[in-house]
Amino acid sequence: VDKVVDLIRHKVPLDEWPAEYFVVEDNIRRKDALLGNDLAPGDALRAMRGPAEMLEAIKASGLRGRGGAGFSTGQKWEFCRNAVGTGAHGAHYVVCNADEGEPGTFKDRVLLSAHADLVFEGMTVAAYVIGAKKGLVYLRGEYRYLLDKLNAVLEKRRADKLLGKSILGQTGFDFDIEVHLGAGAYICGEETALLESLEGHRGVPRKRPPFPVTSGYLGQPTAVNNVETLASAALIAAKGAAWYKSIGTAKSSGTKVLSISGDCARPGIYEYPYGVTVSQVLADCGAIDTQACQIAGASGLCIAPGEFGRRIAFEDIPTGGSFMIFDNTRDMFEVARNFVHFFVDESCGFCTPCRVGTTLLKNVMDKIHDGHGGEYDIGDAQRVIKTLKTASHCGLGQTAGNCVADTLQKFRPSYELRLTVREFEPAFDLDKALS
Ligand code: NAD
Ligand code: SF4
Repeated sequence: VDKVVDLIRHKVPLDEWPAEYFVVEDNIRRKDALLGNDLAPGDALRAMRGPAEMLEAIKASGLRGRGGAGFSTGQKWEFCRNAVGTGAHGAHYVVCNADEGEPGTFKDRVLLSAHADLVFEGMTVAAYVIGAKKGLVYLRGEYRYLLDKLNAVLEKRRADKLLGKSILGQTGFDFDIEVHLGAGAYICGEETALLESLEGHRGVPRKRPPFPVTSGYLGQPTAVNNVETLASAALIAAKGAAWYKSIGTAKSSGTKVLSISGDCARPGIYEYPYGVTVSQVLADCGAIDTQACQIAGASGLCIAPGEFGRRIAFEDIPTGGSFMIFDNTRDMFEVARNFVHFFVDESCGFCTPCRVGTTLLKNVMDKIHDGHGGEYDIGDAQRVIKTLKTASHCGLGQTAGNCVADTLQKFRPSYELRLTVREFEPAFDLDKALS
């Protein structure tokens, strides 16, 4: 950690850092969990007893989407299975969202590197339930280096009759998977922009409804699921709904894989049963003097020490997996300003409230940073955040101001110490004179 801190302090460009500094440790291994996955390829598929039974098991397990939103996977697959395909493409599709672009999130990269078979097996379970013949993995462009390895795993699965025609000798169980590369746009992690991109169009989010379960890839019923959701589905197929439901909390069954980064002694990938407290996570990764945790990415929730007793669960703090730690040497205003710059870069530009709003917010933050800000600018930032939230076309714009809103509420002194411009004070105060 000290060496990394030195590199940052001396502003050494990332491509000059030693390769070993990019290795992410798999810090907590639980035999029964995703990272401790003890299944052999095909175990989950061999355990399935019919699509309807498999769907019931997924519903009974309580599995919810691991991309962050937590929609019921059983319900999603049921809607998709019941939807009817149309026209020349009349078919169902499974799409694995591996466009892991949220700042501070790298758990899908580790799942795909270490447990690709489990993810592909989960896609095959989904295909079996919804009746899909084709699956697509949308792999983040920056993860291109994984492509050959993933294709080799797919090839091996075809050779072992775990993909292709008549999987495991079952007539009519035909399914295959292709990997597509993204091109570096954060917005393509939004499921409908991802589908547009898969179809060869510009990655702009579609209007929802209709949801992809009825009108997804090529307008056909499509189950779009996160990497971790699919890996969990494979474990449920093999080990049963009751086993899965026994882990976690009432409304959040199973485990959550967290990508932990920032000011701690042991950053990396951790897996916890849902319900773990933030303070437990901080203790495990060796964080000290923590002043804030940014959970669920740049658009997520920034919490202060008084809230560290809160829990990672859909009942309390849901997250796609990003867990960034800031100790008391960090300037939370600068953290928020950095996130706002990120959203300006990543706004797809389709709708005015977000395209213009993110830039206006950046301008206010830069003005305060440059020492030209006053109370009026704080109010201005709040007005822009409200417009972003209420008028943006998709989640990116709607949540782009969260980092400023949260830090303004919890770390206001980091803003106030920069305010230099005194507000205009009228020479003659009419209200005062009349009273
Ligand atoms: P959402 O709640 O709108 O939808 C979640 C899922 O449920 C989607 O697949 C959607 O199609 C489905 N769904 C919702 N309502 C439905 C309905 N009535 N019928 C059928 N399907 C339905 O959330 P979202 O906008 O898709 O995703 C936002 C989440 O993504 C945020 O919670 C954020 O944390 C997360 N996120 C994750 C990453 C990452 O890298 N993992 C990046 C950015 C954002
Ligand atoms: Fe694009 Fe932003 Fe509008 Fe979403 S909110 S469609 S990212 S411009």
